[in-house]
Amino acid sequence: MSTDGRLLIVGAGQAGVQTASSARELGWQGPITLLGAEPYPPYARPPLSKAFLSGTATQDRLALRSAEFYSDHRIDLVLDERVQHLDLAGDGTGSAVTDSGRQRSFDRLVLATGAEPRRLPLEGAGLAGVVVLRDLDDASVLAGRLAAADSLVVVGGGFVGLEVAATAAAAGVRVSVVETASSLMNRVVSPVTAEIVASAHRAAGIRVLTGLRPARFVGDGHHAVTAVELDNGEHLPADLVLIGVGARPRDDLAATAGLHCDYGVVVDDRSVASDGHTLAVGDCANLPDPSPGPGPAARVRLESVDNAVEQARAAAGTLVGAPPPSRGVPWFWSDQGSLKLQIAGLARPDDEVVVRVGKRPGQHTALRYRGPGLVAVECVDSPADFLTVRKALTAGVELSREAAADTGVPLKQHLSAALTSAQR
Ligand SMILES: Cc1cc2nc3c(=O)[nH]c(=O)nc-3n(C[C@H](O)[C@H](O)[C@H](O)COP(=O)(O)OP(=O)(O)OC[C@H]3O[C@@H](n4cnc5c(N)ncnc54)[C@H](O)[C@@H]3O)c2cc1C
Repeated sequence: MSTDGRLLIVGAGQAGVQTASSARELGWQGPITLLGAEPYPPYARPPLSKAFLSGTATQDRLALRSAEFYSDHRIDLVLDERVQHLDLAGDGTGSAVTDSGRQRSFDRLVLATGAEPRRLPLEGAGLAGVVVLRDLDDASVLAGRLAAADSLVVVGGGFVGLEVAATAAAAGVRVSVVETASSLMNRVVSPVTAEIVASAHRAAGIRVLTGLRPARFVGDGHHAVTAVELDNGEHLPADLVLIGVGARPRDDLAATAGLHCDYGVVVDDRSVASDGHTLAVGDCANLPDPSPGPGPAARVRLESVDNAVEQARAAAGTLVGAPPPSRGVPWFWSDQGSLKLQIAGLARPDDEVVVRVGKRPGQHTALRYRGPGLVAVECVDSPADFLTVRKALTAGVELSREAAADTGVPLKQHLSAALTSAQR
């Protein structure tokens, strides 16, 4: 495998930076260009809804790598330049045209274009004060408006919406969360975990409404939002509205270039797209379910730092012809105010739940079972359980439902012997 060609990585976010860094580490010799549309050096997005929004982390604290990192690793970081068109020759080589009019030729291409927030096509969606959160510019706008807001309505009870809700409530803003489904975070956690989280938010003064959807955004006649009207006719006062209803993959470039896309660039477990050469990583990719162990060949799109990093490492290995790195079970975290939610594994809505209530109020671990096997764990303020079960899931170590339900014995104790022998 030739490693001295020109490598172009489109998208300078978590996955793009990791691909560049791992490719160099694994021995890519040729020039690496990491090209990003945003004007800022690559930064971490998770703090945007948490520490950056609350003012406890400034922009310079978000950088994914130091400025010297790129020069030290001979990575040509090009900012504020967006690829508008790709030409793929069919053998992995091709060229990209950017909005500056520049053409960049490459021998290998990695797409790491991320995702963009979904918006709601409702009356009033264009009013001032109706915002989304994906990037640093969005976060700066949100932080500025939050500082002057009395009331915030968050539309969507997913991770990002709940993190912002918690941050805003802690700052003294009156907050309501409106979720269409019957429970919060319903695509990722069981209703029992969702209820624990909802109770914590209610205790912090947040109004949590489920099973309702916004009908329109009401303005003051001067183009500023004043309320959200729900489908039951209720008006929720709001001088700020965050639309937090998920993100769609940025796969348009890939689709126009002829790569197979299906709500994300379709890739294999080595991050290779349908032409057999181009790679795609992170939020823009649609990948085979990476959960360890046998299972149906389901495809997933994962939006997490863990996935961006793992897929990027796999892509770098593919580029240099290294054996595939071993991958742990997918995991996520969400800090919502003082509450720490951690999830490992990919559960489905009909997976069974075994709950362990912790010693401290609100401490909770939900183990998810499919047939006889443990498939996922959801932990609220239980980092020790999370680490233990995540290791067990990755190692394929079983935990019986009886042992899971036995709260008299710590999970670590139940699993330590099996984990030790699995690691030998
Ligand atoms: C507010 C927020 C909070 C989050 N919190 C958590 C958390 O607590 N835990 C967790 O695990 N995950 C969290 N995530 C998710 C995590 O940040 C993402 O999964 C991760 O950033 C994905 O990395 P990526 O590189 O695929 O995409 P991105 O980070 O979105 O990077 C893609 C980059 O590509 C650029 N780009 C797009 N198109 C082009 C083009 N044509 N030309 C050039 N550049 C282009 C974009 O401008 C962007 O900079 C959060 C996300 C957000 C938005």
